[in-house]
Amino acid sequence: MSSKLFNVADIFGEDVFNDSVMQERLPKKIYKKLKDTIGEGRELDLETADVIAHEMKEWAIEKGATHYTHWFQPLTGFTAEKHDSFISAPLPNGKVLMSFSGKELIKGEPDASSFPSGGLRATFEARGYTAWDCTSPAFVRKDAAGAILCIPTAFCSYTGEALDEKTPLLRSMEAVNKEALRLLRLFGNTTSKKVTPSVGPEQEYFLVDADKFLQRKDLIYTGRTLFGAMPPKGQELDDHYFGTIRQKIAGFMKDVNEELWKLGVAAKTQHNEVAPAQHELAPIYAEANIAVDHNQIIMKTLKKVACQHGLKCLLHEKPFAGVNGSGKHNNWSITTDDGINLLEPGKTPHENVQFLLVLSCILKAVDIHADLLRESAADPGNDHRLGANEAPPAIISVFLGEQLEDVVEQLISTGEATRSLKGGKLDTGVATLPDLTKDATDRNRTSPFAFTGNKFEFRMVGSRDSIAGPNVVLNTIVAEAFAEACDILETAEDFEMAVHDLIKEYLMKHQRIIFNGNGYSDEWVAEAERRGLPNIKSMVEAVPALTTDKAVGLFRRFHVFTKAELASRAEIKYENYAKAINIEARAMCDISAKQIIPAVVKYTKSLADTVLSVREAGADTSVQAELLTETTRLLKETKAAFTALSAVAVEATEKEEGKEQAEFYHFTVVPAMKALREPVDQLEMLVDKQMWPMPSYGDLLFEV
Ligand code: ADP
Ligand code: MG
Repeated sequence: MSSKLFNVADIFGEDVFNDSVMQERLPKKIYKKLKDTIGEGRELDLETADVIAHEMKEWAIEKGATHYTHWFQPLTGFTAEKHDSFISAPLPNGKVLMSFSGKELIKGEPDASSFPSGGLRATFEARGYTAWDCTSPAFVRKDAAGAILCIPTAFCSYTGEALDEKTPLLRSMEAVNKEALRLLRLFGNTTSKKVTPSVGPEQEYFLVDADKFLQRKDLIYTGRTLFGAMPPKGQELDDHYFGTIRQKIAGFMKDVNEELWKLGVAAKTQHNEVAPAQHELAPIYAEANIAVDHNQIIMKTLKKVACQHGLKCLLHEKPFAGVNGSGKHNNWSITTDDGINLLEPGKTPHENVQFLLVLSCILKAVDIHADLLRESAADPGNDHRLGANEAPPAIISVFLGEQLEDVVEQLISTGEATRSLKGGKLDTGVATLPDLTKDATDRNRTSPFAFTGNKFEFRMVGSRDSIAGPNVVLNTIVAEAFAEACDILETAEDFEMAVHDLIKEYLMKHQRIIFNGNGYSDEWVAEAERRGLPNIKSMVEAVPALTTDKAVGLFRRFHVFTKAELASRAEIKYENYAKAINIEARAMCDISAKQIIPAVVKYTKSLADTVLSVREAGADTSVQAELLTETTRLLKETKAAFTALSAVAVEATEKEEGKEQAEFYHFTVVPAMKALREPVDQLEMLVDKQMWPMPSYGDLLFEV
């Protein structure tokens, strides 16, 4: 907790082995080789790697580093690391040297048998490899363990199958690069060399008091509250959203920013969110691969700094029932190395044929692969949010805004677009205020996939999840749409005609995916059904999208996933879901049996004692007796629901692992959990607060 002030420009990136450090420290030839490797996506030779490793080590040691780690992202949703110190075997004189070879930089071999592989790797073949991803810079992270040189890596099996989030992401970036370049060439662009997806994720989170957190076993075990009655005040006043940031929270944010800036994460925007105790942090967008790594660093930093401030950071999608949950808005665009954003419509989009083709390709991609996008946001926590009037509905649709929708309509009805609606001026009526130009692409907060000026914003992603998955899907489905368009256009005799016809065809075929209205309304659910759009309500119902023939064909064509990799990912998702719900169900049973039921029993005893003594004193006991009856009734209900949940939780563990078990958890265990929660939450409203065994929602949300 530092109170010193600092100059951001001075500290930004100081713990990153970034381009300027490399340029300064590496021999010119080596630096150029590395840059070429990164630029052209080639492999690094060992000699070059040796030189880089040496310089990286020297630099890290100057920063106080004692260890290095291959930092990777297995399919647990978290990052993983194993630390190795730089020391060599002791010398005859009893001293040690610090060493780090090119081989150690490039490749690691963690004993990986305990990471999920979904059947891809038998336990006897435990070898997993981590390979340096030189497109994401190494950094030195400082914490209680000292300073550690973290090397971003991809994680694969012995036979090259992806066991992580990063490998398919890099593959999908290559796919969209290749197909977008094809498309650009068709429009006469011969100068751009590379196209990269850019991503800016907005991260939502809650902060609660650490002492209160530790009094809630549900938060400790599952990251969310499994019980809890609504406090008298919720979020109805909208007084928290963008409200003044309280000093305690401001101090936390200051330290978070400082840490992130040192690590080269461009933390930009911070504000209070809709729910009490909820906040948001957004960095400036970066290349997809770096954005994914940075988002992991952001989540870790939020958690770490919270602890230093006597707080706990909750990243769960739905820590509290009845108040808004947390998500991650994934802002996505595609840009060339010479700065052309393919999603930039310009002032007159109707004349921008290249943009219109890109747009219609994206509409087609989202329509055809809505199930995959939905799946990429599936998470046990997100089951509580999507479709619950606070986050986008579970139905995928695209919001285009007035201006683009008008252009699309013109194209569909007449085959030609002749005008673009203007944004116009926003007249405030106050002479001293500047006139604001109104954005022609206004916002719609209820849309899961919205065009916002020069990017698309995918708003379904869960707050805890890696953003790798959604971006793998986005990159690949768009690569496919570009490829299919290029296949047709590259052989067209009259390009102008062909592109015109193709745009019209795509828009006509896929216009059902466009929806500019209120995504939270019941009418939309009915309308979407009429349009034939999928409404996939839960994670277990979303996972099958991964293994359809359509998905297998798509990912195989672009070398992003093999069929076996997809099957393994589906398997892991089912397993993760089953494990998450199993922990929740067991935590509920544990808390009910050991905390809630005993507390209520004590309360009924105190009520019964009161009834007896008050009656002896000759006064009216009707209120006490009524309370006793009501409490006893709810206690009985609680006990019955507890017994029922315990039984199905045991039954669930006996099911065959995978789809069947996950479905049983979703369709049988989750409803039993709800049934237990109901009487307990009612009891919380009756029982003496002094006797209730844990802090309430009010304590957690309003007394941070
Ligand atoms: P909001 O959606 O809250 O109005 P902003 O428009 O400020 O927020 O952007 C939110 C995120 O989108 C930020 O991380 C920002 O850097 C990112 N962003 C802005 N432009 C682009 C772009 N062209 N491509 C990808 N991300 C972008
Ligand atoms: Mg946004």
